[in-house]
Amino acid sequence: MIKLEKPTQEAGSVFSACITRVRIEELKTRLANVTQVVVDAANEYDTAAEHTRLHEIAPEIMVGGTVTRAEMEAVYTQRMAKIGAPGRPIYDAIFTSAPQGKCPLCGQRVVTTLDHHLPKAQYPALVVTPLNLVPSCSDCNKAKLAFLPTDSSEEMLHPYYDNIEEDNWLAAEVVHVQPPVVRFFVNAPAHWGSVLKARVEKHFHILGLGKLYSLEAADELLNIRHQLRDLHATGGSNLIRTEMRRRAESCERARRNGWRTALYHALADSHWFCTSGIFF
Ligand SMILES: [Zn+2]
Repeated sequence: MIKLEKPTQEAGSVFSACITRVRIEELKTRLANVTQVVVDAANEYDTAAEHTRLHEIAPEIMVGGTVTRAEMEAVYTQRMAKIGAPGRPIYDAIFTSAPQGKCPLCGQRVVTTLDHHLPKAQYPALVVTPLNLVPSCSDCNKAKLAFLPTDSSEEMLHPYYDNIEEDNWLAAEVVHVQPPVVRFFVNAPAHWGSVLKARVEKHFHILGLGKLYSLEAADELLNIRHQLRDLHATGGSNLIRTEMRRRAESCERARRNGWRTALYHALADSHWFCTSGIFF
């Protein structure tokens, strides 16, 4: 997961900006009257997220008892996400906040949407709250949809609130088959508590990151196969090991828990790969 800076736009001002062009006066008045409800919901969300307690926020079907879920969803889709809508500049600012345009949830695929961390169907007061909007790829967005945590240990990672990039937690191992298969897994540091460990495992499992990274690794191996053989012809398995470690260290500087970093460390660590596994 890639850590992102929290968006700085206030939920109340974003909501107000989104509803400026509502033409039906009755609807506009009802929406404007729940602005404080939106502000309070954003504050509750921020406090809960800081303490991994988002699961304690109760789902709702109305906002302030007067605005329906469908009306709030329309504020997001018609007045924020739509091109040319008054809230679109805020949408774009959040969309482009991911480094290199990569989805912060999987760290691999490109950003194509904004994910409502708490889904808009259950949490209509948070539909345009910037802290609840995370740039994401469509696969991660869909994978998250069906999942609602019931306690802290089930809460998926939140790029604005969680930072696990100070630790090495992604690891890989080479499976001895031809062509070689690389299996990825969470290798939690000893100082992580049980809740964080469970959350990272949940994040990894729900988003299918093991399979995603294994497929990417298989493609990477195919791309370097000829170079591996050249290296072996020149300097044998020792040169392969040195080159794999050199790549791992370079990748680690760019992204400590990127799949390439884990892949190249695993290849360098595998005596089988450096001696016979490369001949696939
Ligand atoms: Zn993703």
